Amino acid sequence: ALRERERMMEAHLFLQRFYHHLLVHTKEGQEALDYLQKRGFTKEIIEEFQIGYAPASRDAALTVLRKRGFPQDLLEKAGIIVKREEEDAYFDRFRGRIMFPIHDPGGNTVAFSGRSLSDAAPKYLNSPETKIFQKGRILFNFHRARPKIRKKGAAVLFEGFADCISAYRAGIDNGISVMGTSLTEEHVRLIRRNTDLVILCFDGDSAGKRAAVRAGEMLRQGGCQVRVAALPEGLDPDEYIARYGPEKFRRDVIENSLTLIAYKMQLFREGKNLADEGERARYIEEVQKELASLDSPVEQEIYLRQLADEFSLSLDALKENQRKIQRAKR
Ligand code: ATP
Ligand code: MN
Ligand code: MN
Ligand code: MN
Repeated sequence: ALRERERMMEAHLFLQRFYHHLLVHTKEGQEALDYLQKRGFTKEIIEEFQIGYAPASRDAALTVLRKRGFPQDLLEKAGIIVKREEEDAYFDRFRGRIMFPIHDPGGNTVAFSGRSLSDAAPKYLNSPETKIFQKGRILFNFHRARPKIRKKGAAVLFEGFADCISAYRAGIDNGISVMGTSLTEEHVRLIRRNTDLVILCFDGDSAGKRAAVRAGEMLRQGGCQVRVAALPEGLDPDEYIARYGPEKFRRDVIENSLTLIAYKMQLFREGKNLADEGERARYIEEVQKELASLDSPVEQEIYLRQLADEFSLSLDALKENQRKIQRAKR
């Protein structure tokens, strides 16, 4: 079975090269290459990330891999080909898509994610779960970023790997991303073994905000310090970089990250009119409930003072309220 895992990885590596070659050197890949270049993917980035193109043919991968001696049942188990029951025939899982190879922490190619050229659904098609690919364990770009993460003492976590790649181009070489699922405890342990600081940089839409809070809480539970690099409404990191450029992204987004609490405070504010006493009181209550989760009384006091200053309240009143909230929690 060890041999089987190895053969699956070999098949993936072979396909990675095959798809990359088609993208870069053939007419078949031209449209995909144009698409990537329009999106700002440079030659160097396409090379570095070994991006490729799966032709629209139904069995291009199957044919080349069989010629190389890979048996059909292995390719099926590896998620590369799919059986069509009615016909008792196999065909390629990925057809007419831009191919992003996914690696395990050791750098072995273990899966692909294929993006459609149009925005036709599904936008991204991932390899299924296999012996060598478990989404809950794999982080995109982890094998490449790990030494940088250790050296910098921080990882930047993105929602999508397009963001991860754009950020890499913008000089953020310690970026990683999940594979279209939420962060798992397993991911957290993998990250924590390499750094205790994680900067979250998720999409600036409601799904991204919710996911950032959830990931932030898990990471904190797992022993990481968390910062949140927030994006303007409606933009993801890739779009932000395309619009405002790499320097502004590094300076105004990454270096300007907030603590998890400060980020949540910002979310609590959204849609509230703080000039209204009722909404203001509700906001303060929400924030103080949140502060109850901080272990450090010093950290708590920092935010209580902020509230006191901003709303001209006495620190004593806020502290009294904080004690009440904390007692009720126990
Ligand atoms: P792009 O910029 O190419 O449109 P994106 O990363 O901005 O991609 P999002 O829609 O923000 O795409 O989704 C974030 C991530 O979620 C993607 O990188 C991908 O991993 C995953 N994802 C999105 N749509 C799908 C899908 N239909 N199936 C599986 N995974 C998906
Ligand atoms: Mn999104
Ligand atoms: Mn996005
Ligand atoms: Mn995007």
